[in-house]
Amino acid sequence: MNIRNKLLIQFSLFVITLLGFFSLGILLLSSSYRKTDYYTRLQDKANTTAQLLLNVAEVDNELLKIIDKNTQALYQERIFVFNDKDDLLYYNPPEAIPINNKLLLNQVRKEKNVRFNDKEREVLGLLYHYKGADYVIIISAFDKYGLSKITNLKIILLVGFISCVLATLILGYIFAGRALAPISKVISQVKNISVTNLNQRVDEGNKKDEIAQLAITFNQMLQRLEDGFILQREFVSNAAHELRTPFTVLLTEVDYTLMQERDREYYKEVLTSLSREIKKLSKLSNGLLDLARISFDKSTFNQKTIRIDELIVETCTAIMTANSDYNIKLNFDALPENEKQLNIFGNELLLSIAFTNIIDNACKFSSFKTVQIDLLHENTDLIIRFSDNGIGIPEEDLQKIFQPFYRGKNSHFISGYGIGLALTLKIINLHNGHIQVKSVLNQGSEFNVILPN
Ligand code: ADP
Repeated sequence: MNIRNKLLIQFSLFVITLLGFFSLGILLLSSSYRKTDYYTRLQDKANTTAQLLLNVAEVDNELLKIIDKNTQALYQERIFVFNDKDDLLYYNPPEAIPINNKLLLNQVRKEKNVRFNDKEREVLGLLYHYKGADYVIIISAFDKYGLSKITNLKIILLVGFISCVLATLILGYIFAGRALAPISKVISQVKNISVTNLNQRVDEGNKKDEIAQLAITFNQMLQRLEDGFILQREFVSNAAHELRTPFTVLLTEVDYTLMQERDREYYKEVLTSLSREIKKLSKLSNGLLDLARISFDKSTFNQKTIRIDELIVETCTAIMTANSDYNIKLNFDALPENEKQLNIFGNELLLSIAFTNIIDNACKFSSFKTVQIDLLHENTDLIIRFSDNGIGIPEEDLQKIFQPFYRGKNSHFISGYGIGLALTLKIINLHNGHIQVKSVLNQGSEFNVILPN
């Protein structure tokens, strides 16, 4: 069931219940008022008749009947007056069949006031006390006007009820449709968006209500998707370009060598050069693979508690083994007293790759191939600071160096592919951390890796 129908049914049920109770309440109250009012009138009439009959000596039965007939009588009124010996003293109208129901008379004597319905007639039995004697008056009549008013009220309420329900259904259908129209619009616009036209956006309407908020959020998501697609496209074309160049160099070198017979020394030289190129190629392809792999969810990586100082020492040892000309200075003087504050939860291998990239850059881009590493602890964060006195990073490059394949303007004479920092940032972000960079051109750079403890 769609939202429009659901809303309509819920709202209509609510209105029907409310109106039903309201109408029923009015009907019950009106019926009860009519009854009370009518019994009061019956009682007044009974009292007046008894007074005239018993108190006023001049009024005899016949005169009373005449008075009764000429006063404003109740519709189809019948009145009977009995003395305490159950003798019928008076009844009116003359054609009324006298009743002598001993059970009823005794009940009236006992309860003083008895009310009941005899078919459509309202009957009141009343005990009237006069000069030490008890008289029973039985009066009954048909509340023609009261009952017809109630019947009219019933018709009015029923017609009102049906009209209101119909109006609610029609208006509810229209308003629900109107309220949900923007959603239908968004749905049809979204249906038209695919990979080929990710630059399209849905209409944000008045930019204020919930549906506009939904459209805005959806547009923001589209923007992120589009950015992601553009990045991915750039990444693939950059990767293809970076891979093609070394392959061409290799192929050219091999073809050139094979053009004629060479001496042993020449072959050795060529193979050494090929090995160097292949190593670079292998580094590049590994970096590319890591970058693609780390784009996935972090839940796919094994994570455990790692002592950050131990991980840094292990990473530095591995770097020094591979690059004997690198000079790494470690400073762990500001370690926290509580060893637990050195623990972080993450993936050892990935973090090691991230640190290696920063250390490698620091050494690669400084003439003395030296890097200083400080381990600091601030509140709940661990800060690993990598400082060098190298070539520095131009101001305009600072924001861009974390983009895949971006290389600083001053770094082209040093080998590299521009994927190290992109990979590093992804790894640190995966560990809920971030990287801050400060750099002064020709003086040096400082990379602060901040990881939550
Ligand atoms: P690569 O080192 O292969 O060029 P990276 O992604 O590791 O790629 O670095 C991107 C760019 O950031 C480098 O080309 C360089 O311009 C700049 N950079 C990174 N680290 C340093 C540093 N310590 N000193 C100067 N420039 C740096």
